[in-house]
Amino acid sequence: MKKECSFLRWSFCLSVLCAFLAGCETMSGVNVGTGLSLPGGVSIGANKTISGSGESARSRADKKQQAKLRLYVFDCGSLYFDDISAFGLSQQDTAVRNLFVPCYLVEHANGRLLWDAGLSTRIVGQGKQDMGNGVYQDYHKSLLTQLATLKLRPSDIDFVAFSHMHYDHVGGANYFAGATLLIQETEYEAAFKAYANYPIFDYTLYQDLAASTKVLLSGDYDVFGDGSVKIISTPGHTPGHQALFIDLEAYGPLVLSGDLYHFEASRRLRAVPEFNTNAAQTLASMDRLERMVTANQATLWIQHNRALAKTLRLAPGFYD
Ligand SMILES: [Zn+2]
Repeated sequence: MKKECSFLRWSFCLSVLCAFLAGCETMSGVNVGTGLSLPGGVSIGANKTISGSGESARSRADKKQQAKLRLYVFDCGSLYFDDISAFGLSQQDTAVRNLFVPCYLVEHANGRLLWDAGLSTRIVGQGKQDMGNGVYQDYHKSLLTQLATLKLRPSDIDFVAFSHMHYDHVGGANYFAGATLLIQETEYEAAFKAYANYPIFDYTLYQDLAASTKVLLSGDYDVFGDGSVKIISTPGHTPGHQALFIDLEAYGPLVLSGDLYHFEASRRLRAVPEFNTNAAQTLASMDRLERMVTANQATLWIQHNRALAKTLRLAPGFYD
């Protein structure tokens, strides 16, 4: 049984946050890790509604019909490693040294979610950069330029979530400070408070998000409240690492790995990188995600998989 919330009532709810707890929490059943429940698409403190609570169910259904779930993939750079032993692999386990760095956009009838933001846009067009220790990075066309090909600006993005806050996943993050950040509370603590203890976090790449609206998660999260786009908690690579499940109609169920795996060999050998924050958690997350992939007959995309990337339809093409 759903309680109806009128638009006026919602305006009131938004201005008095505690009213979330009191009155509206049964509207969508979207549970937030903090114990609050939010109706799908409402951003706390952002003073806007994305789904439009004044809409009738019919018009929402119509809109959903018009705006089917879509996934866009962007090329947000490349990483090269002379030596892959830090990934828990021997040099012989795989010949791959070149990693794809993607960004993704999920379009849903009730909003747009950006998943990962690639390498730093500061290095765009500067050629292959030597980062030291046999690591190189390269980035040809900025995420913003690629979004513009879809006629989108950062202000058109409603939600942003990162698999984790390592530098190669948040390079364009500062452009999306106006979106609602969906982040595990453990990752938030590490990335925004204790980042000095995590050398692969570069706070300057996402510092503008310190002031953005956030939903702090403590587990899985149904982004739009209909089960079609779910953040899957998979800690271990970092304290609050997460993967993304997308129930695409034509392509079928898809899971984006984040950095639970970097190489196909990582998955085959259950390899845990030595720079992961918790090895036991990583292995448990692998087990959990693999069970989910099997149960849903989903395809798993290892995000950094260059060989896979060569076969993908990049934006402005899309998956639906
Ligand atoms: Zn990565």
